[in-house]
Amino acid sequence: MSDPLPAATKAPRSTALRGSLIFCRDDPFLTDPATAFCYEPDGLVLCSDGVIVATGPVATIKPLLQSDTTIADYSGCLIAPGFIDTHIHYVQTGVIGSQGKDLLDWLERYTFIAEQAFADPQVAASTARVFCEELLRNGTTTALVFCSVHAGSVDALFTEAARHNLRLIAGKVLMDRNAPPALCDTAQSSYDQSKALIARWHGRGRALYAITPRFAGSSTPEQLEAAGALWREHPDVVMQSHISESLREIEFIRATFPERRNYLDVYDHFGLIGRRSVYAHGIHLDESELCRCHESGTALAHCPTSNTFLGSGLFRMRNVRDPRRPVEVGLGTDIGGGTSFSLIATMGEAFKVSQLAGQPITPVEALYVATLGGARALALEDRLGTLAPGREADLVVLDPRATPVLAFRSGRVRSIEEQLAVLMTLGDDRAVRATYVAGELAHTRTSEARG
Ligand SMILES: [Zn+2]
Repeated sequence: MSDPLPAATKAPRSTALRGSLIFCRDDPFLTDPATAFCYEPDGLVLCSDGVIVATGPVATIKPLLQSDTTIADYSGCLIAPGFIDTHIHYVQTGVIGSQGKDLLDWLERYTFIAEQAFADPQVAASTARVFCEELLRNGTTTALVFCSVHAGSVDALFTEAARHNLRLIAGKVLMDRNAPPALCDTAQSSYDQSKALIARWHGRGRALYAITPRFAGSSTPEQLEAAGALWREHPDVVMQSHISESLREIEFIRATFPERRNYLDVYDHFGLIGRRSVYAHGIHLDESELCRCHESGTALAHCPTSNTFLGSGLFRMRNVRDPRRPVEVGLGTDIGGGTSFSLIATMGEAFKVSQLAGQPITPVEALYVATLGGARALALEDRLGTLAPGREADLVVLDPRATPVLAFRSGRVRSIEEQLAVLMTLGDDRAVRATYVAGELAHTRTSEARG
């Protein structure tokens, strides 16, 4: 889209945020957590024209500020990179909390019915509005999103995201079998529509496109073939789907593709894995599949609230991230199988799932998968996920005293790691004091709403 003012006449807009800075500059699973994690108790993040230009202790950064730079003072709060949700279905916002027996039952009884309504552009537009506002209220500044099978559902989401200047990655779902006829496309129409959507949206403003087969069981071999061909033509778009979420689903895939070695091999066969691909769940992947994810650069989106809500199983984070063959992992809410838009709450649930799996993760590791890990999963680590000069200025400000019990408990913490653990145990959207998108204030929590 064209800029109404010539660049030379437009003064760069500078904002500085003051508070305690927390972020990962590297992977705490694979490198020394003490150097991977950064904490600056009294810091400044200086943003200009949507980008971070300097970050560090107040004493170091303050002399760099120009006289007209405004300082937003969040002393007492934590400033972190905006959260990255690597798996979410905006078209399922209306079915959160629908209690199915398991994944396949939940899909048939609730989800497939709800998604049919997205043939109506009004439904898509009104849901996209609620969805984007909810992301911002929760400090989520980037999300990898499933739309419905309808191309119009993608237009509605990207149109709304552009209003907020959000960096969303999204795509039209591909499904041409094992679903209600109203939700089925064909191999040819899914290819044609996705190609047109890539031309319309990929790289427009901050929008990026994702080719989105729902899962191997809802696509014919011809459709998976077409998805692979499309990705080869557009290797800079993201590929996303689901894998190994529930045991019943895995049996279904085995029966549907008996000639393939395992679930991942179905996607591998059609050229759908590799860097810039993100597969949701991966709970039950075996060692050979994890090795193949590692060597191909395929990432997983861990969605703990969905996995417990649908009874799908326990993701073994530490095993998946084994330094001998680490698989990149981002955190996902998986709305509407998931139960919260909040990645703070989702970090807390990831900890609980890791406990049940016998492999507890640390608060810093949880922060990593919600920020820099997600950026790496999306191959966007040069733009997002950390606080460093040159990165896009998507930020979240967290208030450790947002509720009475948070304030009480935060008054007793002895370290920043303990503070993080307390936040992800007791916090949710109420702990999001403010959200900045490309250096601009996009959401702020009013004092009336606090407590
Ligand atoms: Zn999902």
